[in-house]
Amino acid sequence: MEKPHQNNKQKATAFSQAVATLRDWIERSSRIVFFGGAGVSTESGIPDFRSEDGLYRQTYDYPPETILSDQFFYSHTEEFYRFYRDKMLCPNTQPNDAHQRLALLERRGKLLSVITQNIDGLHQKAGSRRVLELHGSIWRNRCLRCGKEYTLEHIAESAGVPHCSCGGIIKPEVVLYGEQLDSGVLQQAVQDLKNADLVIVGGTSLSVYPAAGLLDYYQGHLALINKSPTSYDSRADLLLPWGIGRVLRAAVPESLTE
Ligand SMILES: [Zn+2]
Repeated sequence: MEKPHQNNKQKATAFSQAVATLRDWIERSSRIVFFGGAGVSTESGIPDFRSEDGLYRQTYDYPPETILSDQFFYSHTEEFYRFYRDKMLCPNTQPNDAHQRLALLERRGKLLSVITQNIDGLHQKAGSRRVLELHGSIWRNRCLRCGKEYTLEHIAESAGVPHCSCGGIIKPEVVLYGEQLDSGVLQQAVQDLKNADLVIVGGTSLSVYPAAGLLDYYQGHLALINKSPTSYDSRADLLLPWGIGRVLRAAVPESLTE
């Protein structure tokens, strides 16, 4: 029977070995692409609405996947906005270490882009410049009739269904269930993945369309940071089953002399 302290030691060794490998790969790479999902934002306190905590079902008559669909937006606009303001708008949330270290890699000229499934804008808040937002952003909103743009604050501070000065309904530029992804963003993501010399996937189970399909455009070294197993684990060359902030803190030193 193993002693508890040996288990802890083994765990620490597994972590430091995996992180040392990732750090080495990052040092040798200059065209890194990071592909991230909800797990990157949960460490900033943004809940993953796909996780079953039952919370939404207590307050809302429909599951979040229904509310966040285009059909629901057009048929129950007021109910959509009640949920959206309550659960999706998070203007005061701050980036965490994962966002910061990725921005640092871009500043050092090592990272091509962040491809994200998140809509919270936290990568940009941390200073990342090339962020490909597959599912859009809560920071962009547009009138459905005339196309005029509105800020997040405008949506947060209005009541009921937000309307444009022309009378049209304002819709967030967030990709709802049932809607197509922006083909321009997809093309850039494919291009960056084809050019990448290292892909780090983090905080996603890769179960949400089109994540896994996009990664098929990349054939090189792939590191996967996710606390729980994913269907993509066998494709990864390096598995890091720990929190993304913890891994990137260790793998991307703040100072290059560390
Ligand atoms: Zn308008």
